[in-house]
Amino acid sequence: MSNLTTERMSADNKVVALATSNDSLTLRLEHVAGTMLRRLQTTLEVEELLQIFVGEARALVAIDGYSHVYNNRTCGARKRGTPHQLNYRLTLAEEALGEITFYRGERFTDSEIHVIETLLGSLIYPLRNGLRYQEAMNAALSDSLTGVANKRAFDYQLHREVSLATRYKYKLSMLFFDIDHFKKVNDTYGHAAGDALLQQLAKVVQDNCRDSDLCFRFGGEEFAMLLAKTETEGAYAIAERLREAVANTAFQHEGHTISFTISIGVATYDGEENRSDFLERADQALYDAKHAGRNKTKIAHQDQEEALTQAAN
Ligand code: GH3
Ligand code: MG
Ligand code: MG
Repeated sequence: MSNLTTERMSADNKVVALATSNDSLTLRLEHVAGTMLRRLQTTLEVEELLQIFVGEARALVAIDGYSHVYNNRTCGARKRGTPHQLNYRLTLAEEALGEITFYRGERFTDSEIHVIETLLGSLIYPLRNGLRYQEAMNAALSDSLTGVANKRAFDYQLHREVSLATRYKYKLSMLFFDIDHFKKVNDTYGHAAGDALLQQLAKVVQDNCRDSDLCFRFGGEEFAMLLAKTETEGAYAIAERLREAVANTAFQHEGHTISFTISIGVATYDGEENRSDFLERADQALYDAKHAGRNKTKIAHQDQEEALTQAAN
């Protein structure tokens, strides 16, 4: 395993190398490492890999908490009252695999450090595979222009959110929105300006939603948001706040200040319709908002019967 580096970041930042202490520990260590490796090969989820690692390592070393940081993403948790930490920067053949830290109330002894460093050898390949998988999934599910989740992610999440809302009987609402007269923006300022504006819009959208709200670029200049545990009134309020935020933003591109508006359709899942009908209602509400003069939010009809009644009146 010559190309594995587990660089312990000691106070003076020297790499620390430690020797094995006794034979019985070596045997137990081999056993735990073997069991751990078998379990680590059963998943590609990074969080699960780290839980398996720490869970198995606890057979030999008490570990109170851990964290793993990779590309600004952190998993794991530190408990209160654990001032001692063991911190490693993990690399494999020059591929950075993040930083892992173990926390404890008491100091780690030299033999415990040896155990952890040996066991890290079992973690490193599964962790690399998990991180590559995570990156590939992120790339496949995010929109390359704006960085927000894409249509594929939307389809997946809609399925998941509808199932959860049905099972737990909570309200699920959707916003569906589209930039008004975006063709004109492209025609006036060019396609590159249009692209830059889409990026800035995605940022405004993210700044105006809660952590639990899921935002997607549905395609072109159409976006969608899924709002779990949100009734129509709440969804309408969020939509209006977003619509106003966009209308009040002075977007910038190459010295030009460009303003535009969005139209929004709001729909709340009725508890039994299929996903495409739910989406269709949000889309129809968006169409209504366009028809009403744009820069508007419209709420979808609850069902066909109601729609027909309203149309007749
Ligand atoms: P409306 O108010 O009816 O929505 O008018 P609109 O001009 O926005 O019309 P529509 O939504 O039908 O057209 C969308 C236009 O958005 C078409 C295309 O020029 C532009 N567009 C779609 N995707 C992109 C993109 O990725 N980049 C840029 N720059 N423009 C895009
Ligand atoms: Mg448009
Ligand atoms: Mg459009």
